[in-house]
Amino acid sequence: MVKLPVGVLGATGMVGQNYIALLNNHPWFEVRFVAASPRSAGKKYKDAAAGRWQLSKTYESWIGELIVAGANDVGAAKAANCAFVFSALEMEKDEIRALENSYAAAGIPVISNASAHRWTDDVPVLIAEVNPGHADIIPAQQKKRGWDKGFIVVKPNCSIQSYTTPIHALIKAGYEVKRIIVSTLQAVSGAGYPGVPSLDIIDNIVPYIGGEEEKSEKEPLKILGDIENGVFKDAAFPKISAHCNRVPVADGHTACVSLEFGEKKPSIEEVKKIWREFKSLPQELNLPMAPEQPIIVREEIDRPQPRKDRDAGKAMAVSVGRIRPCPVFDLRFVGLSHNTVRGAAGGGILNAELLKYKGYIGLAQ
Ligand code: NAP
Repeated sequence: MVKLPVGVLGATGMVGQNYIALLNNHPWFEVRFVAASPRSAGKKYKDAAAGRWQLSKTYESWIGELIVAGANDVGAAKAANCAFVFSALEMEKDEIRALENSYAAAGIPVISNASAHRWTDDVPVLIAEVNPGHADIIPAQQKKRGWDKGFIVVKPNCSIQSYTTPIHALIKAGYEVKRIIVSTLQAVSGAGYPGVPSLDIIDNIVPYIGGEEEKSEKEPLKILGDIENGVFKDAAFPKISAHCNRVPVADGHTACVSLEFGEKKPSIEEVKKIWREFKSLPQELNLPMAPEQPIIVREEIDRPQPRKDRDAGKAMAVSVGRIRPCPVFDLRFVGLSHNTVRGAAGGGILNAELLKYKGYIGLAQ
């Protein structure tokens, strides 16, 4: 099979490095274009990434020889024949929006990790197992903007799949979920590199992450919502209240959740069965990045834990445990997922695989 040439914008950063590592030997995609800030532009990738590579996995030597382009050099991405680009840029939101729009307008689809376009009403926020059908807004998005082959699809915030995927599985099984209180314990890699100063986080917890509580409360409603007249309409439920904390963990975002059902309430055993048996389109299609089991139920009293469970299912599964009744709402559980893989680059690659299956991306012309 001819591999699709792809680009990574922000290839030198925390998420960009994960893209480079995860795309090594990918069966469908091959990195041919890397881009970053003017600080890195013009350098070989190995020199731009030197001293800041954070992963134990590495990349093939020819990737290290690629010359880093400026992220705004859409012409260079065209010249590299990119079938699409992954966007992992950290810049002002309006700058990211403008830059991603310029790629899409030039006919290059953008699969983004940035939050800039998450509230754009015709841009899908995709978790491949939860709302794969939302990708089908793409033709309406292209028509509205006069884009031919380009489009924009984004991934949600890195912590929300720890509870949104389990909640989606319960809704799909026929249970209304009315209200949720979630406290997240988010790893330092979620802040990029170099991220949180060490003196702020060692021996400490920081009970504030700018913008994170709003994202944690609103994004699931777009994901669980519908498409109406070519734009997204948020789900009315669940109402979500979030507390987001930065904790001294390298990778893996934890969510402690209490939730209230509608009138019909499943037993604890039934909840576990629903989660154990949950599979979706990526599993049916056996997409390369899809975990065999999207939700892994842990029975041990003290799991999931970041160090022990973040790599479960190729670091793409959500591990859930401590599933028990709640004396205030109905159910309590702890969810955990790998923020830079499932919550960022791995989730982006899975979205790209889904979009390729659906025929929205193919060889550039
Ligand atoms: P990061 O480690 O700070 O990396 C930022 C990247 O953006 C670097 O490649 C950097 O290039 C590039 N960049 C910065 N300023 C730029 C400019 N003016 N023009 C062009 N490129 C520029 O950040 P990250 O954690 O990888 O996050 C990247 C994006 O993913 C962010 O939007 C973030 O919100 C989102 N995200 C992160 C996570 C996570 O777990 N970390 C999860 C989900 C989503 P240089 O190296 O040249 O400076």
